[in-house]
Amino acid sequence: MSSAASVLSIKDLKVVFSGFKALKGVDLEVGNNEIVTIIGPNGAGKSTLLDAIVGKSPVASGHVYYQGQDITNKSSYDIARMGIGRKFQNPNVYNELSVFDNILLALKGTHGVFASIAAKLTAAKKDKIIDVLDRIGLLEQGYSKVSSLSHGQKQWVEIGMVLAQDPAVVLLDEPTAGMTADETHATGEIIKTISANHSLVVIEHDMEFVKQIAQRIVVLHQGEKLTEGSVSEVQSNPKVIEVYLGR
Ligand code: ADP
Ligand code: MG
Repeated sequence: MSSAASVLSIKDLKVVFSGFKALKGVDLEVGNNEIVTIIGPNGAGKSTLLDAIVGKSPVASGHVYYQGQDITNKSSYDIARMGIGRKFQNPNVYNELSVFDNILLALKGTHGVFASIAAKLTAAKKDKIIDVLDRIGLLEQGYSKVSSLSHGQKQWVEIGMVLAQDPAVVLLDEPTAGMTADETHATGEIIKTISANHSLVVIEHDMEFVKQIAQRIVVLHQGEKLTEGSVSEVQSNPKVIEVYLGR
């Protein structure tokens, strides 16, 4: 069983790719409204861990519990429907539609057919979309085409599309990749806003950004959890210093 306080509970998770052990028994707890940040060198297994949570990495052994339920071998479709939202690194937006319509098409229960976008819009949906736009900082750009947005703003639209699905848990893999310093900072503020209503697991390597959002940091290295703790605990940990500076 998982601990009562955790929305997501990962126990001794192992992932093997044709003989290569990408995760060698990882434990992770994520509490309600918590932001857990995962750091670690390239190839540490960070993306593999998020993939395993959403049913996209081959789990060799161990368990993923979501709200107390074992979801280890469920399909990624079922896991998404149950309430775990994942933003991928590749943009997945409709460039020729407005920001507003992109969020509308992502709403839970809306199955996208372009011709009938307007027909799908009820007052409740409109309120919901406006709330999402507000939380991703794009209220003023609601009627702009996504193609006219900056790289960073497009990433926020994608976060909005995840939020539109009402997930309890939001998983973000390097959400600030390619962003300017201002966009990176704004992304941190968006993540903090989101955490009022969702739990988050965020993979990140920009340490300034990690300091901005982090409550608890988990360090992965070669498929294992090296340590976890606050920013200062992790930064002063000799094992972490060795991994980042050593050899
Ligand atoms: P990170 O996100 O921490 O940089 P990944 O989780 O992407 O690392 O990868 C961890 C290790 O697993 C790497 O050595 C990578 O090459 C390997 N790996 C990831 N996905 C696959 C796959 N589909 N097939 C084979 N090896 C993989
Ligand atoms: Mg990765």
